[in-house]
Amino acid sequence: MKMVFLGPPGAGKGTLSSLASKRLGLPHISTGDLFREAVRRETELGKKVKGIMAEGKLVPDELTIALVSERLAAPDTASGWILDGFPRTIPQAEALQAIEPVDLVVDFDVGDELILMRLTGRRVCGSCGKIYHVATMPPKVEGVCDVCGKPLTTRPDDREEAIRTRLAAYREQTQPLIAWYGEQGIIESIDGSGSPETVYGLFAGALARHHS
Ligand code: ADP
Repeated sequence: MKMVFLGPPGAGKGTLSSLASKRLGLPHISTGDLFREAVRRETELGKKVKGIMAEGKLVPDELTIALVSERLAAPDTASGWILDGFPRTIPQAEALQAIEPVDLVVDFDVGDELILMRLTGRRVCGSCGKIYHVATMPPKVEGVCDVCGKPLTTRPDDREEAIRTRLAAYREQTQPLIAWYGEQGIIESIDGSGSPETVYGLFAGALARHHS
């Protein structure tokens, strides 16, 4: 099963991808995570994208498509994948189509107010990447990861100005993909405003509908 998770920043794509990846046994491929890893390791790619990401802008298509093509060539992708955060532009979607056609696109629908609440309260483990929220999914000990005990951090692009830039990029460049995939009849929209388990239930329903 080759799936794309689509939706605005803060829609819960990362959280749902982790759950779905574990339960369905498919690799979770997040371009945001891959870029953050490159920044952390200070690779050539990381140096190029660090500033762009912190501002909340999109990384150029050329770099992004090259990164994904390489990742999709790895052996663990043979039985499918969950792409989280890619494609984000029409040229990226066209490139993906040429590499590996998608079976199902899940569009996570979430209102602006909830997005702001989720992103401003989001904390991530700097070590294992687990995602928390100060109000709705707090760690057992404030500021410390439940899984690995390392300190939690705020992403540089979760500042208010960068959040506004990301939302604008989503509306202008990514939202048109809903109609693009709609024409192919492979998109399912689900309400992303509930708890992770609630949204997972809706996702599982969409998956079953798609199979039938
Ligand atoms: P979110 O969905 O919460 O905005 P991600 O972790 O998916 O965050 O992505 C973080 C940043 O990484 C984006 O704001 C952008 O700079 C870069 N990025 C990730 N995926 C793409 C992509 N497909 N095309 C261009 N830039 C991307």
